[in-house]
Amino acid sequence: MLHEPLIVAEIRELDPEDGWTRFEATGRACVVCPCGLNTDFIDKAEAAQQYRDHAQASPTRAAVRHHPETAEASSVMHDMLGEITRD
Ligand SMILES: [Zn+2]
Repeated sequence: MLHEPLIVAEIRELDPEDGWTRFEATGRACVVCPCGLNTDFIDKAEAAQQYRDHAQASPTRAAVRHHPETAEASSVMHDMLGEITRD
């Protein structure tokens, strides 16, 4: 079975400020994988653990994949999953 886990940060869109779209992380995330895994939105610490466990089952765990591709989501992922990418 192919495992390509994707972690999805739950991001809330806030009212624009000075014409800039703003986002806020809700503190929850979801892990999905083509094998059928779908954790639904859960606490980000729990999601990070699920992602970590699942990524270790994958022989091709290269980069952390996340969505959406925003700076906010990226920083949330870094906080959540930084230790995965350091090894
Ligand atoms: Zn999988």
